[in-house]
Amino acid sequence: MLTESGLTVITGTMFSGKSTELIRRIRRLEAADFRTQLFKPKIDDRYALDYVISHDGFQKEATYINSVIEMIANLEEKTQVIGIDEVQFLDSRIVEFCDQQAMNRIVLVAGLAKNFHDMYFPFSDEKLDMSELLRIADHTVPLNAICTYQDNGHRCRMNATRVQKFSDGEVAPFDSPIVQVGGKEAYEPRCRLHFQQYQEVLDRLKT
Ligand SMILES: [Zn+2]
Repeated sequence: MLTESGLTVITGTMFSGKSTELIRRIRRLEAADFRTQLFKPKIDDRYALDYVISHDGFQKEATYINSVIEMIANLEEKTQVIGIDEVQFLDSRIVEFCDQQAMNRIVLVAGLAKNFHDMYFPFSDEKLDMSELLRIADHTVPLNAICTYQDNGHRCRMNATRVQKFSDGEVAPFDSPIVQVGGKEAYEPRCRLHFQQYQEVLDRLKT
């Protein structure tokens, strides 16, 4: 039995340092001779393959996978620590996988808890969402970015717990695709005050 076995979920908005924190934790365990494997869903070719690179350039070798089944096929018997970056882009089978693996391995995952709607991020098949992974976690590590809202040259700099999506300089419409790679969109961290909420989400609260 490993002393730290169990599931740790590192979540937060974009630019909150999730990948950096994941890599830091894996390196720490490697320094203590734990056998680790790092996985990342194959989404685009933004960065060189075989490396998980965080926004600040921190990098570590990873196995790129298209599905949870593919990750299982690549998982080595001797592995004691499983790391997964950008976990929200995998399919819903990730929840059962983490639940089972955490019984006798250290499972560290990092991912976006919420999408630009400020709703829990749905997995790629939209059967389950990130709330299920948080539910089964033994440890959660919530990270925040800094709000980049500016008004007359004054920067907000409050803790950003949300991310606003922009298309062509305007707040993106609600039906804008959640995973859109290479488009002309931009994402900015926002605090509660400066996040523009969607009416579609607010309407859900009316019971
Ligand atoms: Zn703000």
